[in-house]
Amino acid sequence: FSRDKPFSEVELQGLEILSGILFYPLRNALLYREALDNSLRDTLTQVGNRAAMEMALKRELELAKRNNLPLSLLVLDIDHFKQVNDTWGHAVGDQVLSHIAAVIKDSLRQTDQTFRFGGEEFVVILCDTQPAAAQMVANRIRSNVNGSPTGAKEIINPSVSIGLAYLAPDDDRDSLFTRADTALYQAKQNGRDCIVNETELSNLACQDMFV
Ligand code: GH3
Ligand code: MG
Ligand code: MG
Repeated sequence: FSRDKPFSEVELQGLEILSGILFYPLRNALLYREALDNSLRDTLTQVGNRAAMEMALKRELELAKRNNLPLSLLVLDIDHFKQVNDTWGHAVGDQVLSHIAAVIKDSLRQTDQTFRFGGEEFVVILCDTQPAAAQMVANRIRSNVNGSPTGAKEIINPSVSIGLAYLAPDDDRDSLFTRADTALYQAKQNGRDCIVNETELSNLACQDMFV
């Protein structure tokens, strides 16, 4: 509070009572916001957790459909991660996990959203992103992760496999996620450290029909 004329003793007492009344609700509101933030963040990697992912997917799907905007989804899984744990121990495994989460985030725009939804599995929601741009983002993540220095003294060449799907008009959260996950499964089958686009899945299915 400020003004040209000095405050009287009575006024100062009034202001003190007022700020005392405001202090606790304000502090509680800040604590509540912090607790909410923490409940939606993965503590190891500092990206959104599974609960945050469910909320974001629901919200972004609704928004994309309402505004007729494209939306792309990446599902990523670290390659041969169990070997890292088995060879170097869980602490090094944790370090690699954090490192890869940071590389994913650094490969994205500020508006893209990253989540850790399983042990060594991540999801990236690319709002307002056409298939060609999403493919470029996936390429960038894959190449940035590949062989990047993990910060651990052990020599580890990390890589990720990525499945890529685009929102279709009749999609819900499950159908979109399942297509990206099936594409990821195919990327693992193709030898890992690669990206499979859902369009390649239907091509594969077509080829299979003609075999
Ligand atoms: P693939 O290339 O087929 O994905 O093989 P993978 O070894 O990565 O897959 P698998 O599912 O066999 O192993 C996942 C491993 O992730 C097993 C589990 O111990 C490890 N893991 C899951 N969560 C954590 C974690 O928080 N910290 C560490 N260090 N390891 C974790
Ligand atoms: Mg894995
Ligand atoms: Mg996995």
